Amino acid sequence: QMLDPVEHMAAPAAARVGDTLADVDTPSLILDLDAFEDNLRMMQALAERHGVALRPHAKAHKCPEIALRQIALGAQGICCQKVSEALPFVAAGVRDIHISNEVVGAPKLDLLARLARQARISVCVDHPSAAQALSAALAQAGASAGVLIEIDVGQKRCGVQRPEDAVALARVLASLPNLEFLGLQAYHGGLQHKRSIGQRRRGAEKAARQVRRYLRAFAQAGMSCPVVTGGGTGSALFDAAGQVYTEIQAGSYPFMDADYARLDWGDALSLRHSLFLLGTVMSTPTPERAIVDVGLKSTSAESGLPRPVAGKGLHCVAINDEHLILKADHARDRPSLGFKLSLIPGHCDPTFNLHDSIVAVRGDKVEAIWDISARGLSR
Ligand code: PLP
Ligand code: MN
Repeated sequence: QMLDPVEHMAAPAAARVGDTLADVDTPSLILDLDAFEDNLRMMQALAERHGVALRPHAKAHKCPEIALRQIALGAQGICCQKVSEALPFVAAGVRDIHISNEVVGAPKLDLLARLARQARISVCVDHPSAAQALSAALAQAGASAGVLIEIDVGQKRCGVQRPEDAVALARVLASLPNLEFLGLQAYHGGLQHKRSIGQRRRGAEKAARQVRRYLRAFAQAGMSCPVVTGGGTGSALFDAAGQVYTEIQAGSYPFMDADYARLDWGDALSLRHSLFLLGTVMSTPTPERAIVDVGLKSTSAESGLPRPVAGKGLHCVAINDEHLILKADHARDRPSLGFKLSLIPGHCDPTFNLHDSIVAVRGDKVEAIWDISARGLSR
């Protein structure tokens, strides 16, 4: 008898181009291309309407195919949050990457310097010793990079605390070889998920006033500060219009996760859900309970449980490593064994990081399968 030796058995692909959605194995991450492309165009149009650059944050998706589409529509380049995260994007041909974060330690600085030989790289700095270490690593590799001084505009995370410190740091940068001072990063993460649109507007205006204080200090010192980068999906509307940002870093906007969908948006930015988890009902132990195979290894849950797309009267009540527990209001609302269910993930960034690939569908036909190549690259 011929045996199929297990060492030659690869896990079958979850989907193939041309499959229908119902054929896709689960759990899988699904991208609705029509909604995704609408979202890409909407944010690009918002940026262009206000004459600011769009530099989408790729930490949201970690997928070079997605970044290349954002750039093809007019994005200036991308942001990455980590140096290693930038690797697959450079390999895929992205040539302008801002590391929107502080980078500390020789292995990271050496890698950054090597990337800077192949692509235009910029990075955040908020301390003179970090600037010196960066300059030394770049000089060693014979490369140069742009530098944005990160300023704290209210998030109370990283960043310089006072305008005079930013000016002093810019003077240090000017004295160091292989660095080019480009301007400021002013990102306010605490603002992005405030539910009320008025609260986000007032928060964005307050952050913009902080940025202006810094810009005045630079002007008084006779130093130019051409770039102001920042902003996320929740504040993009106000940052783009506010006259201080030259570049918007929104990341989540192509996907509209359940966390962002809880916000009030008004009618200015009507982003659509494009990102879904496909799961299978694997057990129906009671008339009102269904168990789906989408656990914490397929979706993040720190910003809320995923939300079933269809089915009124059906709620996610708990999640375990490999199980999602759904409760139906009535037995008639409970999906049956084997049913494939679409869910909207709570938070796009950590959810992408759990998947090797994303199944891109047009209607219910699989059009492409894209590698999430930067998945797990968090150094
Ligand atoms: N810029 C920075 C520095 C961030 O940390 C983030 C997200 O956390 C973003 C931009 C993008 O924000 P969002 O995904 O909410 O659009
Ligand atoms: Mn996020």
